[in-house]
Amino acid sequence: MKIVVVGGGIAGASAAYHLAGHSRSPDVTLVEAEAQLARHTTGRSAAQLILNYGEAPVRALTVASLPFLITPPEDLVDHRLLSPRSLLTVATEAQSPTLDRALAEGRAMDPSITEITMEEAVRRFPPLRPDRFIRAMLEPESSDIDVAGLHQAMIRGFRARGGAIAVSTRVDAARWRAGRGDWEIETTKGVLSADVVVDCAGAWGDVVAERAEVAPIGLAPLRRTAFTVASRWTDSQQWPLVADVDHSWYVKPDGSQFLCSPADEQPSEPCDAKAEEIDVALAIDRINNATSLEIRSVSSTWAGLRTFAPDRSMIIGPDPDRPQFVWCVGQGGTGIQTAPGAGRLTCDLLLDGEPGSAFDHCDLDLRRLLPDRFR
Ligand SMILES: Cc1cc2nc3c(=O)[nH]c(=O)nc-3n(C[C@H](O)[C@H](O)[C@H](O)COP(=O)(O)OP(=O)(O)OC[C@H]3O[C@@H](n4cnc5c(N)ncnc54)[C@H](O)[C@@H]3O)c2cc1C
Repeated sequence: MKIVVVGGGIAGASAAYHLAGHSRSPDVTLVEAEAQLARHTTGRSAAQLILNYGEAPVRALTVASLPFLITPPEDLVDHRLLSPRSLLTVATEAQSPTLDRALAEGRAMDPSITEITMEEAVRRFPPLRPDRFIRAMLEPESSDIDVAGLHQAMIRGFRARGGAIAVSTRVDAARWRAGRGDWEIETTKGVLSADVVVDCAGAWGDVVAERAEVAPIGLAPLRRTAFTVASRWTDSQQWPLVADVDHSWYVKPDGSQFLCSPADEQPSEPCDAKAEEIDVALAIDRINNATSLEIRSVSSTWAGLRTFAPDRSMIIGPDPDRPQFVWCVGQGGTGIQTAPGAGRLTCDLLLDGEPGSAFDHCDLDLRRLLPDRFR
């Protein structure tokens, strides 16, 4: 079986890696429009793993991803992909009921989540202004993810399993040839054929579907802004990621800097997203109000498109109207932490028709992931 995976971000890398390793040994080619892989959203994330984040099916995919993230294959990566980075969520008096809900929901999934005193919160993140907040929640099991290491491990594994990669190769059209039972795929580098097309095109997921004459899902790419500022503390790398419970800003220690974001969600066309000055200014104002970081200048700014399905769960599996077109899109704000599970599930559904044993203990509600729910 010949499979073409469209998109060389984390979703495409994981799907391609798992497909190439299946016992039916399909012939898999990963095609990427850009000259480099992972140039779009995958290269622009905050690199955090949060168990207590996202819709239930997304959380199940995070759980299914943990074995690869915690113990990646030794032949693919020689260092840890995860390192400790707890998550501290703070709430004002008005946000207190939201924190109660977050605590209840979080503890149901991760019993290590606890409420801590503001004194303890400030001890953990000294620039936090204790007069602004009354309560704090700690998620000690949260981690930093080595995103480049994870992506490279999957690409290395894909190549080792005989997979082919074509960069600077944009898919412009795909026609299903009913008589031959295969796809004719027009790319900027020539024509390819395949039995199955896997759509891992991130913000361009619906664009690729329409180019293959498959009905779009209604994906919404939402721009999120990020920037870095210098830290004047020598020990800030040890501190947690701190965020407010309404998701209106966050700050994450990043080496000798802080990565900051207004946690914005601006609707966007699929594009090479750029940070807008107004969003950076808004984040600086919120963070300076919440902390004593006293941000006056930034080192670098960027933005990426977090792309969501209408119900904010992912879309994984064969299209019901064109089963030779398989979706793996809608990664939203959790595409890195869910990548091993999402790629595995894409492979299982494509080649075996059902989730394999990797999902036995994940409480996976497949109906909330299949594209069928939008048809
Ligand atoms: C600021 C920010 C912070 C984030 N923080 C986190 C976090 O802490 N943890 C987490 O898990 N997630 C986080 N995310 C989300 C995560 O980055 C995404 O969910 C993930 O990277 C999506 O990966 P992807 O492979 O689907 O998309 P992409 O990385 O965008 O890859 C899609 C690829 O498809 C290619 N493509 C498109 N059209 C075509 C075509 N026609 N032909 C060929 N190739 C094509 C594109 O060039 C692109 O390379 C964050 C995102 C942002 C923006």
